[in-house]
Amino acid sequence: MHIGFLGLGNMGGPMARNLLRAGHSLTVFDLSSAAVAGLVEAGAQAATSPAALAQTDVTVIITMLPAASHVKGVYLGENGLLANVRADVLLIDSSTIDPMSAREVAAAAAKHGNPMIDAPVSGGTGGAVTGTLTFMVGGSDADFDQAQPILAAMGKNIVLCGASGNGQAAKVANNMLLGISMIGVSEAMSLGVSLGVDAKVMAGIINTSSGRCWSSDTYNPFPGTMDNVPSARGYSGGFGTDLMLKDLGLATEAAKQARQPVLLGAAAQQLYQTFSQQGHGELDFSAIINLYRKQEACA
Ligand code: NAD
Repeated sequence: MHIGFLGLGNMGGPMARNLLRAGHSLTVFDLSSAAVAGLVEAGAQAATSPAALAQTDVTVIITMLPAASHVKGVYLGENGLLANVRADVLLIDSSTIDPMSAREVAAAAAKHGNPMIDAPVSGGTGGAVTGTLTFMVGGSDADFDQAQPILAAMGKNIVLCGASGNGQAAKVANNMLLGISMIGVSEAMSLGVSLGVDAKVMAGIINTSSGRCWSSDTYNPFPGTMDNVPSARGYSGGFGTDLMLKDLGLATEAAKQARQPVLLGAAAQQLYQTFSQQGHGELDFSAIINLYRKQEACA
């Protein structure tokens, strides 16, 4: 299949490579010529603009862009995709954006005769490289069925969450819980250790008791409790504090529009914001534990 791919960054680059590996032909565009050159070397064709990409004979276009403003610009702009693409080309946006913007762009696509799904991912850059991402999809059953085999080249778990925007809704709700649970584990680990419990013993107790969660048993923020996680390497790599802050912003904004209280989500957003303001936005989000450990310097 001939697929168009826009946004070849930390996530989009390896996702596009997996489509090539699966035997698809690819035409790509990114504002970064270095990112485009990397994909061309791997076998893709380069387009000079979103409009030029849309005017090729692609049957599917995938976007993996930083935020809603970029997504709206690329789809709805004067020289954007919708103004140039043939009707019936399936549009898949995998960027993480707010559900309302996803619905707005999908409605514009529908007016133009293009099926569109939102398909944000979890699994991080590691999952993008290994092709094991989870896709949370919002759209119709028929559009999901059409997209499924394409997404399967980039992910393992592909879930239809309901109508347009629901993929984004599921993604922001899950990431809000992750942000909150990491703070909860940080607080509990720090309390246990400051009361005299050894950190590894404390982690072991939590992980075999009712406090157990992904943040405690797979990604523990307390240094020395686990190998091969950001807390074991000065919080480098992983999922940056500023990316978590972005997702919590999406969650609280979506909650405001739905008149849905998210008391802990809002508190978590402020804690990550404080940590980012202190200059640690690039560190993995589990470094938030340093807000609780006054004697420990951040990496
Ligand atoms: P990134 O900043 O590495 O890549 C974004 C790419 O989009 C860049 O190459 C940039 O040049 C390109 N771009 C920006 N505006 C463009 C435009 N108008 N036209 C064409 N290309 C344009 O970001 P990323 O880490 O790849 O994340 C992409 C999306 O995936 C974000 O919405 C992010 O929240 C989400 N996400 C990221 C992760 C992660 O761990 N990095 C995990 C899950 C979801």
